[in-house]
Amino acid sequence: MKDKIFQGIGIPLDNSRREAINLFNEMVYTKKIEVEITGKCFCGENNFQILSRFDRFGLPFGTKICKSCGLITQTIRIHPDSLSLFYETVYWPLINGINLETPEMEHSKFITAPKKDESTSFVLNHISKNKKEVKIFEVGCGAGIRISKLKSELQNLGHNVTAIGCDYSENALLHAKKRGIKTVHGGFEELVKKGKCDVLIMSHLFEHLPHLDVALEQIESLVEKKTIIYIEVPGVIDLENKIEYGYNYQTYNVLAHTFNFSLNTLSKVMQSRNFKLVEGDEFIRSVFIKSEEETKTPLKSDYENIVKGLNRAYIKQQKIINRRNSPLLKYIKTLVKAILGKQFI
Ligand SMILES: [Zn+2]
Repeated sequence: MKDKIFQGIGIPLDNSRREAINLFNEMVYTKKIEVEITGKCFCGENNFQILSRFDRFGLPFGTKICKSCGLITQTIRIHPDSLSLFYETVYWPLINGINLETPEMEHSKFITAPKKDESTSFVLNHISKNKKEVKIFEVGCGAGIRISKLKSELQNLGHNVTAIGCDYSENALLHAKKRGIKTVHGGFEELVKKGKCDVLIMSHLFEHLPHLDVALEQIESLVEKKTIIYIEVPGVIDLENKIEYGYNYQTYNVLAHTFNFSLNTLSKVMQSRNFKLVEGDEFIRSVFIKSEEETKTPLKSDYENIVKGLNRAYIKQQKIINRRNSPLLKYIKTLVKAILGKQFI
């Protein structure tokens, strides 16, 4: 797929998603939601290759990969000042295809669909058994599934736990509250008022942040020397294992994701403020702590690795499409249907 640009029409839309897109478009046209063109890469270079022109919904939020470091950035993004309104009104019905007004959908609201959820256990191994009091913060906690799970796991091990989560969506916070989580409406700036934490969770959050420099400063404001920072994002090199996106980069790409990371590019961003990777994989689940020392050996570029990973995913995606369209398979399916049909007549 040398230099392939993903520019398909996007996924089919149910009514709820269609409504959310209509609302989003109206807000963009009337400038209630502002969008902006992105500039150079976080690494300082301006040496990009376009990866996609559209996101999974066919909206013109494309992506570009930095040839110098490998970090993938959006071509345009929602302006930071408009993010709060976007998450409050458009995001959840767009992502989950759920109308927020229907009470019967109660349980599936505000939850990022679990992929391979081992996040809490992943963090658990890094928390000292001797630490009696544990204070957990989660930024962008949604309905509070992860933080409440970690809270009860820690309580079962005998820790006294304070768990505080923040989110832009007040509706989501109502659900978190029901799960026994203290909640704060807003982002990092609101959590700062609650002091520092021992465990900071950012699950499917970091890839949504518009300014990485600002994000790193905000993380610093919440952590101490030994704070365990858990970051989970959908790793781009792992796309070949992510069936939820059909191994398709365009389906993986969504207007809310300002960056796509590999473990290397995430670590490089964190390293710029001396946050050191303790453990991590390409899924991506990762644990960082603040290091005392300046990082002397910068990580090398991950551009080649990421392009190879995208290539593997593309080949897998094409195999599935070919299999689905195979004349032999279609013939067998028709045959099986005919035989089963006869049996049941
Ligand atoms: Zn770069």
